[in-house]
Amino acid sequence: PSRPTRAGTLRERRAAVLSPSYRLFYSEPVELVAGRGAHLFDAQGRDFLDMYNNVPAIGHSHPGVARAVAAQAATLNTHTRYLTAGLVDYAEALLDTFPAELDRVTFACSGSEAVDLALRMARCATGRRGIIVSAHAYHGTTALAAAVSPSLGPDNPLGPEVVTVDPPDPAEAPGDFAARVAAAADRLEESGAGAACLLADSIFSSDGVRPGPVGALPAAAAQVRARGGLWVADEVQPGFGRTGAMWGFERHTGASRDAAGGAGISGAGASGVAGSGTVTGGAVARDGEPGEAGGADDVPDIAVLGKPMGNGMPISAVIHREALGREFGQRVRYFNTFGGSPVSIAAAQVVLATVLGEDLPGRAARLGERIARGMADTGAFSQVRYAGLFAGAQLDSAERAQAVVDALRARRVLISASGAGGDVLKVRPPLIVDDDDIDRFLTELDAALAEVGR
Ligand code: PMP
Repeated sequence: PSRPTRAGTLRERRAAVLSPSYRLFYSEPVELVAGRGAHLFDAQGRDFLDMYNNVPAIGHSHPGVARAVAAQAATLNTHTRYLTAGLVDYAEALLDTFPAELDRVTFACSGSEAVDLALRMARCATGRRGIIVSAHAYHGTTALAAAVSPSLGPDNPLGPEVVTVDPPDPAEAPGDFAARVAAAADRLEESGAGAACLLADSIFSSDGVRPGPVGALPAAAAQVRARGGLWVADEVQPGFGRTGAMWGFERHTGASRDAAGGAGISGAGASGVAGSGTVTGGAVARDGEPGEAGGADDVPDIAVLGKPMGNGMPISAVIHREALGREFGQRVRYFNTFGGSPVSIAAAQVVLATVLGEDLPGRAARLGERIARGMADTGAFSQVRYAGLFAGAQLDSAERAQAVVDALRARRVLISASGAGGDVLKVRPPLIVDDDDIDRFLTELDAALAEVGR
């Protein structure tokens, strides 16, 4: 066939060269040329408020990250088979943010690679094959990560040893999720595969943002551990402060830095935040209070980190106990050419220092409360589920959710929709979003809802 002419709009040229599998957000896509803080700019210089992107956690085009990356790229960029101080400095600082049991890190480049490695380690350590995931989970793009990602749809076959369970619901007791997980683990036992692990996104993002009830994850992990399996916490979405704690799993335990529990807000005109309770029309209820610190079941066996880790540089990690890494390393040679390379590490160092130094988890808890309450006050959502700066607002259909997303885009505010039914507005801004940004978001949301009809 003859080569097509390279003409047309940017959108047409893109469609002519990229795989048809690529998707664009919004019925009227946005062309971006720059970003700064929680703001993105198009070719006409118009300012879009970014209420969606979690990768630039400390802000788009962060000057400290840009300087560190440029300086490191101009000095040395190689792999992890030489001694380099930055790698060790960063590993020490990162592990200091985890409970002491989690004392080793393996670096990779994407969340998918890290999930893949975590699952291989769990299978190696337990001698079991089965993996339990939530009903609409997303864990990544490798063959193994896709095989544990039911949200990819019916044509993406799950692995033969993968069992799904419905995610936690804020209205149920922590033990309800644990009971579903126990039943799934029993099924895996009966099949002969056994349960190698429970793999769970600690905020169940793709299930429609389901942070609560507090305690659900450790209770479920206890069931899997009682049957010889492990708890793998997928922290790609909730990690690095997003949920109001440094790590998403900490919200479920007394290990949390500030014990910020997520909450659900139901009905219109919600006001006031109670400590703990049940969600009923018009009332706000905490998911619950974290349990006592230090229980063995409170700490995952493996945590998987990604997305915000390098503020856009490709770096991810598997955090694990020494024994898990030793067993795996004795049987399998693992080397990741770009994983933990000096330029990525330089970016990650700035991110970690900023998240801790500026107490971004605390900021996420405070500002997240404002966003969730403001959204609930519109009266348009049957429920607003949130933990820190990650909110899922429940609408009654995917069509309405898409209409609100598009109406907001027309008002230069960027969000998206999520959940099994596509009917949950997903609000997840960079962690450095400020009060003025939130005012603007809530004003435009109100106008968009008026346009679409409440
Ligand atoms: N786990 C979760 C929970 C995710 O949300 C994602 C990405 N959306 C991944 C894993 C995979 O990460 P990546 O796209 O970096 O491979």
